[in-house]
Amino acid sequence: MATRENIPFSIEEVARVMGLQVKRTVRDQLYCKCPFCDDRSGHLNINLSKDVFRCPRCGTQGGILDLYAKFHQITKNAAYSELCDLIGGAAQTTTPVAPVKHIAIETEEVPIASAEVRNNTYSNLMATLSLGSLHKESLFKRGMNSQQIEWAGYRTTPAVRSQKIVTTLLECGCSLEGVPGFYINKTTGRWELDIRGSGIMLPDRNIHGEIEAIQIRLDKTVHSKFNNLTSTGKYFGATSACCPHYVGYCHGMDTVYVTEGVMKSDIAYCLSRQLGKARAFVGLTGVANTNQYMRALTELYDEGVRRIILAFDSDAEFNPHVAQALKNAEQLGIEHGFDVYPLCWDPHFKGIDDLMLSFKEY
Ligand SMILES: [Zn+2]
Repeated sequence: MATRENIPFSIEEVARVMGLQVKRTVRDQLYCKCPFCDDRSGHLNINLSKDVFRCPRCGTQGGILDLYAKFHQITKNAAYSELCDLIGGAAQTTTPVAPVKHIAIETEEVPIASAEVRNNTYSNLMATLSLGSLHKESLFKRGMNSQQIEWAGYRTTPAVRSQKIVTTLLECGCSLEGVPGFYINKTTGRWELDIRGSGIMLPDRNIHGEIEAIQIRLDKTVHSKFNNLTSTGKYFGATSACCPHYVGYCHGMDTVYVTEGVMKSDIAYCLSRQLGKARAFVGLTGVANTNQYMRALTELYDEGVRRIILAFDSDAEFNPHVAQALKNAEQLGIEHGFDVYPLCWDPHFKGIDDLMLSFKEY
């Protein structure tokens, strides 16, 4: 379990960064609205002296990093690095911090499989599924045409039991171990697919076009519009790890647009084609995700890209977190040798996709 000795921030600071709603305080314990279930009355217990949390309603529990990592469905390493950026920045430079790998992880998870294995399993998984008509309709409304919807490879989360899908994948020779979303049912000993909410499944593709992760645009927003396909906390499960999502990028391009999320970058790319000039996009999972941004910068620089256009949501003007993230992104880009151009537009249009859709509608 993580302790204060090797993490330069407290669970209280993490809860604050996450904006958890505190319903009541009893001595050194906070009772918050649980972000992991439909809880409304403050089931999530946060013990400030032990730096642990637990929700008796949904069973989610863990330490400082788990709280943030499970909420954002990222690895503990990624959580550690994002939290250092958000709250522990000063502490990190002045106090030597033990590497996160020294923290024992008390779960029965397995390490994540290679990008190649994940790509193979996810490609086969998506091939067994289809896209429902309501979801297709919602994508039309956001500006994609039918060929583009087909091309993007989106699917509707399966509503039926996962057994048939798993059997098909195993018959295809797919490896399920370490592929986030799959786990072993302890009672039956059989592999299962862990679908935690219904929605549209979006392939998160790396610079080589491999599917490293699957995001889910949820039909019902709980704490976030998006989830990752994950089997974190499950027996033989694995924690998902998203990658910078590349769309429309080909080797030799000079300029790339950086925005947030798989769906937004896909839609923006599709709209740019419809508007007559295809542009390349890289979608990051969350603007504050420095790890992913750094990975994209390294990959793009190695490819010879020298110009980055930052197309973050227009709420930068009102949201200090977004404004800070934009400033950091600009700085990091310059430090890595890029010409960086932050885009601004009428805040009436939130994302670059909304803005481009308005051009199409004129
Ligand atoms: Zn809960």
